[in-house]
Amino acid sequence: MSQRIPITVANGDGIGPEIMAATLRILEAAEAPLEIETIDIGEKVYLAGNSSGIEPSSWESLRRTKVFLKAPITTPQGGGYKSLNVTVRKVLGLYANVRPCVSYHPFVETKHPKMDVVIVRENEEDLYAGIEHRQTNQVVQCLKLISRPGSEKIVRYAFEYARRNNRKKVTCFTKDNIMKLTDGLFHKVFDEIAAEYPDIQNEHWIVDIGAAKLADTPEVFDVIVMPNLYGDVLSDVAAQIAGSVGLAGSANIGEHLSMFEAIHGSAPRRAGQNLANPSGLLLGAVLMLVHVGLTEHAERVHNAWLRTIEDGIHTYDIYDEKVSKQKVGTKEFAEAVVARLGQTPQILKARKYSKGEESHASATSSKPAQKELVGVDVFLDWTSGSPDDLGDALSKVNGEGVKLTMISNRGVKVWPAGHKETFCSDHWRCRFLPESEGGKVAHAQVVSLLGRIAGAGYDFIKTEGLYTFDGQRGFSLDQGE
Ligand code: NAD
Repeated sequence: MSQRIPITVANGDGIGPEIMAATLRILEAAEAPLEIETIDIGEKVYLAGNSSGIEPSSWESLRRTKVFLKAPITTPQGGGYKSLNVTVRKVLGLYANVRPCVSYHPFVETKHPKMDVVIVRENEEDLYAGIEHRQTNQVVQCLKLISRPGSEKIVRYAFEYARRNNRKKVTCFTKDNIMKLTDGLFHKVFDEIAAEYPDIQNEHWIVDIGAAKLADTPEVFDVIVMPNLYGDVLSDVAAQIAGSVGLAGSANIGEHLSMFEAIHGSAPRRAGQNLANPSGLLLGAVLMLVHVGLTEHAERVHNAWLRTIEDGIHTYDIYDEKVSKQKVGTKEFAEAVVARLGQTPQILKARKYSKGEESHASATSSKPAQKELVGVDVFLDWTSGSPDDLGDALSKVNGEGVKLTMISNRGVKVWPAGHKETFCSDHWRCRFLPESEGGKVAHAQVVSLLGRIAGAGYDFIKTEGLYTFDGQRGFSLDQGE
C-alpha cells in the first residue's frame, strides 16, 4: 500500500466538530490515504488563557505534517483575543488565499448560473501589514507595502494554479491608474510573469470596473489575482453572488505549510443539531487533496458531492422545494455523498484535476538597481496659518545645498501657487530638493536640515527619502506638482 500522507486536523467550535466528522467520513470512504493528527484550537484554548487560540505544542504538529485541515472556530467576544486565522497566516507565511466561487444552477439559487471564478488573493502585504500611525491631531496613516518578491510569488502561484486546474485565463485587478508605484509594481510583475505562460490568456482590469464586471457578469472571468485588500473584499463578493457562501472552501498556501477550510464561521446557533451543511469544509478538503497530489481522490469526492447536490439531497440552508428532493442532516448528507463515490454529475460540470507538483516561485533575483537619494519629504504637524505662511517661514531653513520646493496637504500641492479653496489639515508634506537641479543629497544634509527645522520650532513627524532607481523616479508627484 502506498504511504499515507500526514495531515493535521482541528475540529473547531460550534458546528465545526460535526462538519469535520462528516468531511472525514467522506475522505475515509473515498480511501484517501491520510494519516490524521488532531489538535485543539479555538474557544477552549482561548478561554484556557492562550490569547492566540492555539497551544504551542500544536505548532509542532503543523510543522511535521505541513497540511492543516481546519474547522471554523469561535473567537470569544471581548478584548485581548487575537484572530487565530491571522496568527496562523502570518506565522506560517501563508501568502496565497485561493477561493473557488462556483454557482450550482439550477440546484442552488443564484443570479449567475454560469459562474466559476477562482479568486487568488495575496495574503501578507498591502495595507494588511498592519503598520499604522497617528501622526497629528487630525491625521492617521496606514502604510501600503507591495514587494516585488511578494508580487512574484502570488502572480506565479495564480498562473501555476490555472495550469494545474485546466483554467484558461488569469486576470489581474489593481488600481494602478492612481497608485502608480505600489499597484503599478503588482501589475508590472503580472505582465512579466504572464509572458512566461503563453498557453494561458491574461488581462488586467482596473479594480473598480473589474469589480463591477465581476458582480454583473462573473462568467467572463476564470482566475483573478489581486493584492490583499481588493482580494479580501472581492472574494466575499464573489462567494456571495455565486449563491454559495455556505458551500465554498478555501486554501491558504505557504511555501512550507498550507491550511484548508470552509469560508463560513462556526454558526454556534446551529451547533449540535445535525443541521449544518458540511460542503464548505468538504470542498476545502478537496483543495487539500489536490494540493497533496491526491488528485484522483479529489475528483472522486468532488464529483460525488456534485452528484449529491444534483440529486436534490440538500441540508436546510440550501433546501428549496422547487429543486430539492430530500432535506437531510449533516450525517445523512455525508452518507449520500459516500453512496455516490464513483459517480459523476450529469448536469453540473464534472471536475478533473491534473497531476502536477505544486511549486513555489522563489523570487527572481534581478540585479539591484542603482539607488540615489535626490531629495527628502519632511512631514510637519502644523496649524499656525496658511500654506503661504508655512512656505515663507520654512524657506528660511534652506541652505547647505537643499531648498524647499513644494508643500502639499493630503497629496494636493498648496505651495507655491496653491488654490485658496483647497482644504488643509494639520499634516503637511514639505519637499526639499538639491539647490542645483538634478543634484544628489547626502544623508548628512538631511540630518542637518532636520536640525534646522527642529531649531526653527517645527514638529516634524516623519521623513521619506526621495530616491531614484537606475535614474527612474521612485516617488510620486503631488496633484498639481
Ligand atoms: P457564520 O458563518 O458562522 O454564520 C453566518 C450564517 O450562516 C448563520 O446564519 C449560520 O447559521 C449560517 N451558516 C454558516 N455556516 C453554515 C453551515 N455550514 N451550514 C448551515 N448554515 C451555516 O458567521 P457568524 O455568525 O458571523 O460567526 C460565528 C462565529 O464564527 C464567530 O465567532 C466568528 O468569529 C467565527 N468565524 C470563524 C471563521 C473561521 O474560523 N474561519 C470565519 C468566520 C467567522
